[in-house]
Amino acid sequence: MQGKHYINGEWSTAGEGVIDVMNPATGEKVGTVPNGGEDEATKAVEAAAAAFPEWSKTTAYHRAGLLMKWHDLLLENKQEVAEIMTREMGKPLAEAIGEIEYSAAFISWYAEEGKRVYGRTVPASKDGKRIQVIKQPVGVVASITPWNFPAAMMARKMAPALAAGCTFVAKPAKLTPLTAVRIYELAEEAGFPKGVINLVTGSAGKIGKVFTSHPSVRKLTFTGSTEIGKELMKQSSETMLNLSLELGGHAPIIVLDDANIEEAVKGVMASKFRNAGQTCVCGNRIYVQESIVEKFSQKLQQAAGALKVGNGLDEGVEIGPLVDKDGYEKVVNHVKDAVDKGAKVLVGGNGRAENDSYFYNPTVLLNANSDMLVMNEETFGPVAPIMSFKTDEEAVHLANDTRFGLAAYFFTDSMTRGTYIAENLDYGIVGWNDGLPSAAQAPFGGMKESGIGREGGMEGLEAFLETKYLSIQL
Ligand code: NAP
Repeated sequence: MQGKHYINGEWSTAGEGVIDVMNPATGEKVGTVPNGGEDEATKAVEAAAAAFPEWSKTTAYHRAGLLMKWHDLLLENKQEVAEIMTREMGKPLAEAIGEIEYSAAFISWYAEEGKRVYGRTVPASKDGKRIQVIKQPVGVVASITPWNFPAAMMARKMAPALAAGCTFVAKPAKLTPLTAVRIYELAEEAGFPKGVINLVTGSAGKIGKVFTSHPSVRKLTFTGSTEIGKELMKQSSETMLNLSLELGGHAPIIVLDDANIEEAVKGVMASKFRNAGQTCVCGNRIYVQESIVEKFSQKLQQAAGALKVGNGLDEGVEIGPLVDKDGYEKVVNHVKDAVDKGAKVLVGGNGRAENDSYFYNPTVLLNANSDMLVMNEETFGPVAPIMSFKTDEEAVHLANDTRFGLAAYFFTDSMTRGTYIAENLDYGIVGWNDGLPSAAQAPFGGMKESGIGREGGMEGLEAFLETKYLSIQL
C-alpha cells in the first residue's frame, strides 16, 4: 500500500523520499508513506485554517450527518482496515477489528454529543445586565498519535473535534501510518469538505514544530509517551497553545483476599495481555494480598501459559509480536532485571527475535519487589509481575508510589474496602472488578505525569471548545 498525505482535499506524496512501513510479525514491507516535513505540515495547517470559518458555521446536525456516513463506511470496511492495522503493528486481527469498532463508537457518540453543546444564561447582580456563556469551537486542531492504537487514538480526537466545529490536521506514528491513511480515504468518501480534515506523514520533529509554532494552530492534542509530551509542552509555551496530553501509564492492579479469584484472573488477563501488553492502561504491576498469592499466581500462570503467540493474521493467535526491536529489548531487560533481583519466572520469561520480528512469550513473575524496573516503569510487553502485600493501606500506598496516574484496577467484593481503595487511588481511570474500563462515553485520561485533560465522554468534547462570556448592558 502506498500511503499519501491528504492536504486540502488532495492526495500528495511530497516530502523527502518515503518511510517504509514494516510488518513486525514477518519483517516484510507493508507499504510506504511520504516523509513529509515543515512544508507539508504548514500547507495542511493553512488548509485547515482556510476551511475553519465555513465549517465552524455549519450546524451540529450537518456535521453529525457526515460523521455518521464516515462511521458507517468504517464499519462496512472494518475487516480490511483491521487487516492493514494487524500488518503494520502486529495486534491479533480480532483485536484490530475490536479497535475499529471502538473507533466507530467515538464517531457515533460525538456525532450525537455535538448536538448538545449548550451555553448558559446566568442571573446578573446588576440591573439591566445580561450574562451569557457561549461555547465555540477552538479552531484548527493538530493531532499527534502513537502506534499502539493507530485508529482509536486518532478517532478519539478527530470525532469530537469535528463535531465541535473544528478543522483537523493529523500526524500518525511512523510505524503505523497506513491505518490512518485508509481511515482518511473513508472520511473523504463520506464527504467532508476540502481542508476540514488533513493528514501529514513524516518527520515527527519537523511536523511537531509546525504544530506548536504556527499561529493558526489553536489546539494540540497528543497521545504518546510522557517524555515527548513534556517536550511538546515546552515547545507550546511560546504560543500558549491549548493542550490535551494523553501520556504514559504504569497501572497497578490490586487483588484483595476477598476477591473472586477466577474473575480477578480474567480481569488481569484482559488488562495485562491485550495488545501484547502494549497499551497505556495495561496493568503493569500486580499486588496480591499475601493469603491468596499462591492460589492467584497458579491460576494466572495457567491462563497466561495457554495464550497462543504468533502472527496476528493467523487463526486463534492472542499475542502478536512486539512492535519493534526497542520494544522487545525493553521487555527482555525488565525481565532480566527482575530475575536478577529475585523474581521467580512462573511461565514465559523468554522470546524470539529473528528476521526483524520480535515475539515475547506471556510471562508471569512471582516475588516481585519495589526495586525492580518492572515495578517502576512502563514495560509495554506481556509481563505480569506479582508482589504480595499485607494491608489495604499498604496496597494503596504501593499503587500510588509512582509519577504516573493513568489507570488502576482492583478486585474485591467488599463495598467498604472497595470504596476506600477507589477514593484513595491517584488515578484518572479506576476499574473495580473490571479489567477493561475504556468506553467512548466515559472520560479517559490521567493524573500526575500521565497527562492533562480527558478524551471520551462530554469532557472529550469540551476539550475542543472555548468558553466565551458575553456581558450585555441593556
Ligand atoms: P512516542 O514516542 O511519544 O510517540 C507518539 C507520537 O509522537 C508519534 O506519532 C511520534 O511520531 C510522535 N513524536 C515523537 N517525537 C516527537 C517530537 N519530537 N515532536 C512531535 N512528535 C513526536 O510514543 P509511542 O512509543 O508511539 O507510544 C507509546 C506511548 O504512548 C506509551 O508511553 C503509552 O503509554 C502512550 N499512550 C498513552 C495513551 C493515553 O491515552 N494516555 C494511549 C496510548 C498510548 P513518530 O512515530 O513518527 O516518531
